Amino acid sequence: MARPLVALVPGSFDPIHNGHLDIIARCQDLFDRVVVGILTNVAKQSLFSTEERTMMVQAAVEDWPTVEVVKSDGLVVTLAAQLGAGVIVRGLRLGSDFDYEQPMAISNQIMQPTVETVFLAARPQYAFISAGLVRELAAYGANIAHMVPPAIAAAMARKLGTP
Ligand code: ADP
Repeated sequence: MARPLVALVPGSFDPIHNGHLDIIARCQDLFDRVVVGILTNVAKQSLFSTEERTMMVQAAVEDWPTVEVVKSDGLVVTLAAQLGAGVIVRGLRLGSDFDYEQPMAISNQIMQPTVETVFLAARPQYAFISAGLVRELAAYGANIAHMVPPAIAAAMARKLGTP
């Protein structure tokens, strides 16, 4: 019997938004198991703690039976190896995403040759969304309902003390 195909979808998810959720949803049809990896990015100061981000993602995917959520403060390839994930999935919005992703994919390939990086193109209706834009608009108290699920909008308002 063939080994189950496990995909790791890594990111900082600070916070998770509809673009991330679309990539995770599409992975359900492509892989037997999907693990969302909540990473600590040493280069970024995050708004939500790793624990908060993990709980928010868990709540957002709780009805998706083949999706699980893990947190890690290590490297993506190390996590992939620990999980037995053969594939790392990343979403691509603009060319600038590819410029950022390509060196990481090559570096990961060198460190862990058995793990493949697969890119999924963002759907046009979500391609404008980034966690940074969500945080920036939320900080002004703007409506972010077109970018995140209601529970995330509520968590942002609580965190930022906005109405
Ligand atoms: P962001 O870029 O929103 O801060 P992350 O750093 O957490 O998000 O990225 C996690 C993964 O999700 C990356 O592969 C990123 O390219 C992808 N991604 C982010 N935003 C979108 C989007 N709007 N549509 C599709 N994929 C996305």
